[in-house]
Amino acid sequence: MPYRAPVDDYSFLFDHIVGLDQVTATDRFAEATPDVTSAILTEAGKLCEEVMAPLQRPGDLHPAHLENGVVRTSPGYADGYKAIAEGGWVGMAADPEYGGMGLPMTVTSAVNEMMSAACLSLQLAPLMSQGQIEALEHHASDAIKELYLPKLISGEWSGTMNLTEPQAGSDVGALTSKAEDNGDGTFSVTGQKIYISWGDNDFTDNVCHLVLARLPGAPAGTKGISLFLVPRNIPDENGNEGVANALKVVSLEHKMGLHGSPTCVMQYDGATGWMVGAEGGGMAAMFTMMNNARLGVGGQGVGVAEGAYQHALAYALDRKQGKTDGDTGTIIDHADVRRMLMTMRAETYAARGIGLMCAVAIDMTTATGDLRWKSRAALLTPIAKAFGTDIGNEVANMGIQVHGGMGFVEETGAAQYARDVRVTTIYEGTNGIQAMDLVARKMMDGGDAANLILDEIEAAAEAARDTLPDLAEPVWQASESLRETTEWLVKQDHRTRFAGAVPYLRAFARVLGGHVHLMSAVADADGARGKVAAFYIQRLLPEHGSLLAQTQAGDRDFFGMTPEEFAA
Ligand SMILES: Cc1cc2nc3c(=O)[nH]c(=O)nc-3n(C[C@H](O)[C@H](O)[C@H](O)COP(=O)(O)OP(=O)(O)OC[C@H]3O[C@@H](n4cnc5c(N)ncnc54)[C@H](O)[C@@H]3O)c2cc1C
Repeated sequence: MPYRAPVDDYSFLFDHIVGLDQVTATDRFAEATPDVTSAILTEAGKLCEEVMAPLQRPGDLHPAHLENGVVRTSPGYADGYKAIAEGGWVGMAADPEYGGMGLPMTVTSAVNEMMSAACLSLQLAPLMSQGQIEALEHHASDAIKELYLPKLISGEWSGTMNLTEPQAGSDVGALTSKAEDNGDGTFSVTGQKIYISWGDNDFTDNVCHLVLARLPGAPAGTKGISLFLVPRNIPDENGNEGVANALKVVSLEHKMGLHGSPTCVMQYDGATGWMVGAEGGGMAAMFTMMNNARLGVGGQGVGVAEGAYQHALAYALDRKQGKTDGDTGTIIDHADVRRMLMTMRAETYAARGIGLMCAVAIDMTTATGDLRWKSRAALLTPIAKAFGTDIGNEVANMGIQVHGGMGFVEETGAAQYARDVRVTTIYEGTNGIQAMDLVARKMMDGGDAANLILDEIEAAAEAARDTLPDLAEPVWQASESLRETTEWLVKQDHRTRFAGAVPYLRAFARVLGGHVHLMSAVADADGARGKVAAFYIQRLLPEHGSLLAQTQAGDRDFFGMTPEEFAA
């Protein structure tokens, strides 16, 4: 489906909102000069528009399938993946020592978002590899790094993450897959994993699985979990394809969307693996991959929102229906269609800005090791994931509405965006779990990281008060309300916090979005961005008030009814 990469938006956000210059001022990322960044965005944009977007529909119509135990991918996906790998996009953020580009996560996130907009199901393959590369960079032995990283980074091999088992979804600590020490530096891994994205394919020479499992006698829960690298083919020490490992794809899931991405049930029968990280440190090591993937999945939501918006806009500019006073004679002249298109655009932009703020915090942590950046990245990750994917869903649904009946009809492609993006609020930790993480683990500092961000938002709003009072004042007020609720929240027990977690996360995102839009209006007061900012701040930001009220409502309403009364 046609797609235009919003390269200008990224450049604008880099320059005026999220401060990519702080990142490139560090030694670690000094090479990502504005010229380099601009060339990267343009080149990636071309790949998305010309190579990936045309694969979106074939992937939906011709799902990946299993043929005699081998995954056969959708038409064109092998060539699409090859183009991604050859462009160096799998290893964008990876260590140059092993062949990566060493780009900041901020730039990587923008490219990943564009790829998601163009073809979400194919983009999930390099996203999984990127997460695995980062986990290995941080936690694997030198021998594993030398053998695996160059091939993963070049895209010759691909990576997956294997957490989920039938009885262990959100509760990863319930997993029962086992690993036994072979005494020669290897382990035998046995168990079944479900829902494994890109668990196999017919275009990379090897598929490397990061599998969570337990050693004999390991304690129950997450503390007893270790992480193992289990390749489909066991390579020799030179990285040549070796013998097949004792693992197989049992079946593929039939899904409501994301048809081009094979979602596999994997069986490991004493498969040979190597431990990554410390014994019992599997969750810590996997969290490197999961945090990377959480930001990436948030970006998937934003990418799909962008695609759905562009699609709906094109339709609104073409469809004639009803009398209008406007110039075009098409449905874009109707107030309600304008409302939907403005909402789609304003929400997508806010979510994009939040994701990039999070990416900057990750880059600054990498470059400086400063704990304040680290806490900021930790705080923003669940917000970027949950808000990005909520917006992906809401915008894609609104895109269907803009199309009217044609949105419900599959040929237009509007429905595919909604079906494909649906899973993003579920995988990588459901959005409910993200919100619980925000109000519990991420508030263990008593709200310090949150308050630092709110200080910055208020300082920026104060600076804008003279020039843009109608926009600056509501953002300042919203930030203060959020601060008061945060102060209340950190004094509550976990039960009360969890009851208010989802509205709190959304209110936080609303305020961050208000800041992103206000800063855009400051830099582009008379342009389209200033107009979209006014729409967001006047019409969408006020939602934070009711969300904060819900946050403080406690859990009495939820638990007042018995299960029998629910069913009555
Ligand atoms: C298409 C697809 C691709 C996937 N890819 C991968 C992959 O590559 N690797 C992998 O390991 N997994 C993958 N998954 C699995 C995914 O991460 C899980 O589905 C997800 O973590 C939720 O687990 P579950 O399905 O068991 O749901 P459950 O955990 O049973 O959750 C059901 C509902 O209960 C809620 N819930 C559960 N526990 C709590 C709690 N403690 N507090 C509040 N609410 C709770 C959830 O939020 C949810 O609304 C994929 C799933 C899908 C559908």
